Amino acid sequence: MAATFKGGYHVDDHKSLTNAKPTQMLDGCDVHIFPLRQHIGAPLTPCVTVGDYVYVGQKLADSDQFVSAPVHSSVSGTVIDIKQHIHDSGTMIASVFVENDRKYEVYKGCVPHDYRNMSKENVLELIRDAGIVGMGGAGFPTHVKLQPNTKVTHVLINGAECEPYITSDHRYMLEEPEKIIYGLKVCMYVLGLSDGYIGVETNKQDGMESLKNSSEFNEHIHIVPLKKKYPQGAEKQLIKAITGRNVPAGKLPADAGCVVINATTAVMISELFKTGIPPVIKNVTVSGDAIKNPSNFKVRIGTPVKVLIDKAGGFVSEPQKIISGGPMMGITQYNIDYPVTKTTSSVLAMVKAPKTYDEDAPCIRCGRCVSHCPMHLMPYKIADCSKKGDVDTAKDYNALECIECGLCSYICPANKNLLQFIRMIKPDVMKKVRGEAQKNGK
Ligand code: SF4
Ligand code: SF4
Repeated sequence: MAATFKGGYHVDDHKSLTNAKPTQMLDGCDVHIFPLRQHIGAPLTPCVTVGDYVYVGQKLADSDQFVSAPVHSSVSGTVIDIKQHIHDSGTMIASVFVENDRKYEVYKGCVPHDYRNMSKENVLELIRDAGIVGMGGAGFPTHVKLQPNTKVTHVLINGAECEPYITSDHRYMLEEPEKIIYGLKVCMYVLGLSDGYIGVETNKQDGMESLKNSSEFNEHIHIVPLKKKYPQGAEKQLIKAITGRNVPAGKLPADAGCVVINATTAVMISELFKTGIPPVIKNVTVSGDAIKNPSNFKVRIGTPVKVLIDKAGGFVSEPQKIISGGPMMGITQYNIDYPVTKTTSSVLAMVKAPKTYDEDAPCIRCGRCVSHCPMHLMPYKIADCSKKGDVDTAKDYNALECIECGLCSYICPANKNLLQFIRMIKPDVMKKVRGEAQKNGK
């Protein structure tokens, strides 16, 4: 039986639009745009100036802070500008513009490494210097994840890909399975673990077979079938499904003895050690009913999203909604000038928005938001607290445990956008918790 967690819901996945479509390599475009924020952590300072010639894999910006991740060029060419540009967060971010000379000359410092001949410290330094982050969308620096404060017993690759429409990880499983496993082996080496686990939803049976038939597969790699259910790929839910452990409230996966790495991140780690090149090319799904020819592309980071949409045949009609990421947790976009970053896994365009909300509709007390919440919260109660500005009660209802999966809003028959209200009160709850901790000298 497929492993899973309590709660969650089987949402329509719409993956058949692209899951059988081989990934096509896209040409680079004339100008690539590299936002200096593609990670969670300290901001970056450019290490190039206008007029500099840069190579594929050359660092464009970095920080001296531990929790941060540099950005590298995906093309060779000339830096023509450093200015604010629209980012998929909806804000303007300082970005380096590189005019592509289409020679794709690789930076001389990019050389392959055999991790087995390196110290763990040097492996971590290489991963840090390559700017590898959670490439499924999280953006948390991988070198930090791989240095937990406590001893871990499990490293898990998240191959659930539970968000509807997205098939970029699935295509990696089918087309480059050895890279996922090789990346996992690097993580196992750094963490001192003999075995590693790859969780895959059962809607990707061919992906599981492909991983098992890979040249890198062996008896220490465990492919774990996961029930097809949203949000199966959320860290805490993945850990529960594979190890049976609960991550304590307010704690991290390492506190349950686990490190979770996204499948695309594992591919990028593999690329780094095999070729020496940092993350500069990644799989991106372009899908939705407003896209003429939904597709999977291999894209050079910095490519404007409108180029991907054009390559997928453009729009069949004016989309009502464009989303960076999946429909459950992705970010709605107001234009398509933003570039592909390390964390872009998909671009979706919908003729009709998947759901419209009615804030004034009364709650019918059906309890569906409660029974399906993967964090076992009471979403309607927290949303009520938010409307009333009642921070104390929201804290008592564990508002900070909400992983913002959006399932409560999706599932509510009264069309209440519960997550929006929960998001609104979380910063105040966080402020309160921090204030109390400070007062208690913690
Ligand atoms: S968004 Fe938060 S409250 Fe709503 S179902 Fe997900 S975890 Fe639960
Ligand atoms: S799902 Fe909607 S209608 Fe049902 S209890 Fe929750 S908020 Fe109320």
